Amino acid sequence: MTPVIAQTREELAAVRADAQGTVALVPTMGALHEGHRSLIRRARQLADTVVVSVFVNPLQFGAGEDLDRYPRTFAADVEACAAEGVDVVFAPTVQVMYPDEPQVTVKAGPMGERVEGLTRPGHFDGMLTVVLKLFHLVGPDVAVFGQKDAQQLAMIRRMAADLNVPVAIEAGPTVREFDGLALSSRNRYLGPAERATAVALSQALQAGADAVAGGPEAVLAAAGAVLGKAAAADPPLEPDYLVLVDPATFADVGAGHTGPAVLAVAGRVGATHLIDNVPLSLA
Ligand code: AMP
Repeated sequence: MTPVIAQTREELAAVRADAQGTVALVPTMGALHEGHRSLIRRARQLADTVVVSVFVNPLQFGAGEDLDRYPRTFAADVEACAAEGVDVVFAPTVQVMYPDEPQVTVKAGPMGERVEGLTRPGHFDGMLTVVLKLFHLVGPDVAVFGQKDAQQLAMIRRMAADLNVPVAIEAGPTVREFDGLALSSRNRYLGPAERATAVALSQALQAGADAVAGGPEAVLAAAGAVLGKAAAADPPLEPDYLVLVDPATFADVGAGHTGPAVLAVAGRVGATHLIDNVPLSLA
């Protein structure tokens, strides 16, 4: 089945008016891979009508980030959506989403300045703004996001709670390559040697998870040791952060912390910024 492709707000409104039953939305920036497809399959289970949005949102890219070279593979994305039984692909242009320079935007608050937000000022404001706009345009009952972007997920949940957004937020687990590297649209930037270095991110998380019985300090030390080795590799992994945080607030957990936590890591290999995380439970 070929999905209906809507590119304007009017086209989307017309297909939305015809939609029967419940609606699930899977927001993406395209360059769809198996991680996106797993979220689409989850959406398929949750609702009668599945809408996938494909929009590379300029508002969430900072100066010097990869907005211009971000992969755009629309024909393949539509094929993937067709294979997964998607009903509607909403693929607006920048002009459709932002006909004027936006004046009123969503502010992420303190959580937006932590961890990933420290090195990407304004990123989470831009992300939340486009997600709220997509919610208003599509009117879904449920929206599905990946645990891969754990801070994004936490902030969308918080936005939904703080602003009384009537959309249920569902999360899907991170899909990985055979060796553990988290699937990402940005992986296609990596050359073979960079790809070999990049696996250290997931290896660090695995080492941290294996050390969970020793508490927060042991988790961070085990993961940090793997990152330290990768920092000396050729090409090197340049770590941005390695943190153990509260899954809901992304504030650091203390040394004696017990209960759920997220071990989150980010680093640069060549010009490519990669992030990954693993949920943990500390006894
Ligand atoms: P993106 O296109 O990178 O903005 O991602 C769109 C959605 O797919 C987000 O909710 C991501 O968290 C999710 N996603 C990205 N990579 C993965 C992955 N490897 N496994 C599961 N979900 C993912």
